Parts: sequence; structure tokens; C-alpha cells
Amino acid sequence: MARPKNVKHIFVTGGVVSSLGKGILSASLGLLLKSRGLRVAIQKFDPYINVDPGTMSPYQHGEVYVTDDGAETDLDLGHYERFLDEPTSQASNLTMGRVYKSVIDKERQGEYLGGTVQVVPHVIDEIKERMNEQARNGSLDVLITEIGGTIGDIESLPFLEAMRQMKLELGPRNLLNIHLTLVPYIKAACELKTKPTQHSVKMLLETGIQPDILVCRSEKPLSREIKNKVGHFCNLHESDVIGLNDCDTIYGVPLMLLAEQLDKRVLKKLNVKKYKEPELAYWRDFINKVKHPTDGEVTIAICGKYTEYPDAYKSILEAFVHAGAVNNVRVNVRLVRAEDAEENGHDVDDALKGVHGVLVAPGFGDRGIEGKIRFIQYARENNIPFLGICLGMQCASIEFARNVCDLTEANSTEFNRRCRQPVIDLMEHQKKVKEKGGTMRLGSYPCILKEGSKAYQAYGKFLINERHRHRYEFNNDFRAAFEEHGMVFSGTSPNGELVEIIELMNHRWFVGVQFHPEYKSRVHSVHALFKGFVGAAREFALGARQLSFEPGPLPLEQPVNEDAG
Ligand code: GLN
Repeated sequence: MARPKNVKHIFVTGGVVSSLGKGILSASLGLLLKSRGLRVAIQKFDPYINVDPGTMSPYQHGEVYVTDDGAETDLDLGHYERFLDEPTSQASNLTMGRVYKSVIDKERQGEYLGGTVQVVPHVIDEIKERMNEQARNGSLDVLITEIGGTIGDIESLPFLEAMRQMKLELGPRNLLNIHLTLVPYIKAACELKTKPTQHSVKMLLETGIQPDILVCRSEKPLSREIKNKVGHFCNLHESDVIGLNDCDTIYGVPLMLLAEQLDKRVLKKLNVKKYKEPELAYWRDFINKVKHPTDGEVTIAICGKYTEYPDAYKSILEAFVHAGAVNNVRVNVRLVRAEDAEENGHDVDDALKGVHGVLVAPGFGDRGIEGKIRFIQYARENNIPFLGICLGMQCASIEFARNVCDLTEANSTEFNRRCRQPVIDLMEHQKKVKEKGGTMRLGSYPCILKEGSKAYQAYGKFLINERHRHRYEFNNDFRAAFEEHGMVFSGTSPNGELVEIIELMNHRWFVGVQFHPEYKSRVHSVHALFKGFVGAAREFALGARQLSFEPGPLPLEQPVNEDAG
């Protein structure tokens, strides 16, 4: 195996329970190292057999995050981009399915002729090859690899074996293992308990891996005694046991790890001598704005069908945190179930009471569609700021066709294949596509904006690039009818053939986009449309407050600054 010189590897594993926030830990450490002047990339290796998460339900996997080069990936890659402000790519997310597929393809092509293809060495070698792929291009100082799953899972064993072998090959100064565990607080005993962490490390040791640093997630701060005790049982010095308390915002995690000197321990162990003091002034400023906005709050309804599972809308929720900070308001999110609005007698008015903006979320399939259309109609008729993303834009087109253009049978052929007024239809090249995995319109595409439009106002330029994930598209046969009734096609593909953005002229702020702006919102650069949308909601809230003569606070909703996890 070619050995990429000088790139330091950091592996992050998790133990005790899932959802401890390995992704946030990796992203936070990446940010700290980048702020010290190092060139950092982060990648995630997932143990499941799906080739990518694109074919999984959001209930199984949360949001599918899409990269510029069209990879459908794990939602942790969104955290990497938001924290690091660096694009991820196809190479940043590998699944065990992809590893096996590649090995089996090679076997069929005769690459192992004469041999028996086995997990060791063939699968492990393939994993090591992939783990090194990004390190080979010569532009990195540090490559962080997050291993999905929890120590003890059968399916992640090949990843651990590859890690073990790599440490042997590269040496302890070039490869570091960080293990994230939970130290639960037992109320009845008023004590933090270290046993689960000890067991998790023991299980890791069984695979031949001694963690170099332990990060212990806990409700309460870890005392020096506890760190000492954990270290004692896990073969570590107490300064290599890092405490990570629950935070009120995930963006606070890097600062907490900085205070615990995680980055310094990492640099020392990896023998990195050239680094500077961390530059995190903008990050602190951002957190300050998130925690103490000066211009009050707005309430945004996110209308979708996975409302009981917010991970399905991860990037949207984070984009609202960024947009709130830049607009100096707290964004309270109200998740409203689209299907509820389909039931007879359900009051859309009640569901959207006190709301200053309505976002209709992306999605697939016909569940909840008629409800989404009712919410959009309400936002349009009551001049409430509206942002429709992908399916949300398609539903806005159906609503406008039915209720404004008098195309009463308008629909998408996704929901009614034989519909007579298909305002949303399958793209021509999609009609022959049979396979489901990786075959949508995926990744970054250019789009030209119309001068004077809300979209142009938001972006401040004519040419934008945005990420897509869909099969269906606005049907150009209906463009004239829409325009006649006041719909503006404010963004199209450069050749003018694909409608990318629709917006209404006589409305406060009504924009539907065929792409996914949420994937590109970052702490360092909030997305223009989220900034514009929350800005419009802020103006709307201000007007509503002045009208009601009641300047008191608005009802408190579910805040979007969710706990690290
Ligand atoms: N189901 C729609 C399509 O495939 C929208 C997809 C989405 O919202 N990402 O075009």
C-alpha cells in the first residue's frame, strides 16, 4: 500500500451507546485544528451494507446529505461542512456495502485470479486503501476518520481491524485513536459512573486497539478524581481523559474541547510542532448571537411528514440557527405534520397561529401532499413569508396551478401517474431509469437569476450553484399560464430549460426552489435564501407586534439550538 507521507490520521470511535455525537466531536476537533493553521479533512465510514444512504428512509437514517459532486451521504457530513467550511465529496463517506461491492466487482474482473477472496486480507486492504484515499492528494495535514456505529457491533469489526493494522504500519506518531463514551450520572446515588466506559475500552482492547484519548460525554463536569479513575482503568494519563458536558448548542462543543485542551493533546501525541494560537473570534461571536439575539424572536413552521423525527430535517434546522444569528433573532421552529391538514375539519389556521414564516420541506411519495398544499395556500393567501424546498416548491406549483390558474386537476406525476394537468413531471432522461440508487438529479448545478427578483436580491449575483436531489421537474408546458397569473420564474438552468426557482410578485416573500439551499448554509457563510427568508419573517413579526399593540414576547416554541447528540 502506498504510504501517504506526513498526513496525520485521527480515528474517532464511539462506545456505550449511539448518538453521543461522534460527528460533532470530529467536526469540532477539525475546526480547532484548522483554526491552528492545519489543513484538515473529515471522512465517515459507515458499517451498513447499503452502498449509500440514498435508498434509506429518513426514519432509519435521518437526513440524506448531498455533496457538490452528487454523493448521497450521512448527515454527519453536513456537520463537517458547517463547522469546517470545506466541501466534502464522494470520498468523504464510505459504507461497508461499497467496500464489499468493490471487492466483489474486482473478483468478477479476475483481479484475484487463483485466490480465495476473504475478509482478511482483501476486505481489510480495500478499507485501508479507502481510508488513505484523501490523504494521498497531498493537500492535507490531518485526516479525521469517524467510524459509524458503536464498539461491540459485529459489522464494524473490519473497520477496527483496518485501523489496528494502519497504526502498526504508520506508527503511533502518525495515527491517533480517540474513543468517545458516556459517563452517566445516576441521580439516586448522586454519582457519575465510569463502569460503562471501562467496559467499552475493554471491548476495544479485545480488537487490539488501545485508545490514545478518551472523550467522556456526561451531564455533569468530570472531576479530576473521575478522570484519574477512568485513566487508571483504561491505561491512560488523566490529561488524556477529556470531559465533554452536554451543551445548550452544538456550536459550543469546540470551545468546550478547547478549554479541555483536546487539540493540544492531539498535536502533542502526533508530534505536530508547527501550529498557531487558535483563531476563533468569529465562532465566539456567532455563538453569542445565537444565545443572545438582540431583535427578539420569530416562529417558523416547518411542514413535513417526519415531524416526530427532527434528524430528517437536520440541515434545515441548522440553517435556521445560522440565519437567526445573522438576523439577530431567535428562530423558534414549529414542526407541523402535513397529514394533519388532510383530515376533515383540521384547522390550518390553528396550526399556523402566530407563525411568521412557513417552510414546506423536501420529501418523496404522496403521504401528506394535500396537507402541504393547504399550508401553502394559507401562506400565499395570508401573505406569510414562504420557502418551499424541492418537493415544497413542487407543491407550491401544484397549489398555484389549482387555486390561481384554475387548473383544477393539476398534480405531479409522482403522485398521480395519469394526472391530466401534470405541472410537475418526470424529467425526460429519468423516464428510462430503472435502478433506484444514485440515479436522481444529484449534486451541484448552475442557475441563472432574474434581476429584480427576491432571489436576486438575496444572492446579490446572477450565477449561483446549488445542490439537487430529485427526479421530477416543473413542466414547461405550464410556464405561460403561470406567468400570466403572476408567478415569476426567477431562476433557471443556464440554457433556460429547467425551472429552478419560482416566486410570487405580489407577496411579501414567497419563494420555491427546486434545489436544496440547506446543504450549503454554514456558520461562516449563512445561506442567502435562509438569511432572506428569516429576514422577511423578522419584518413580518415586527409588523404584527406593532399592529397588536402588545410588544410582549411571543409564545415559546421548540428552540432549534438542540443539544449535542
Ligand atoms: N420527490 C420529489 C422528486 O423526486 C422531490 C424530491 C425532494 O424533495 N428532494 O422530484
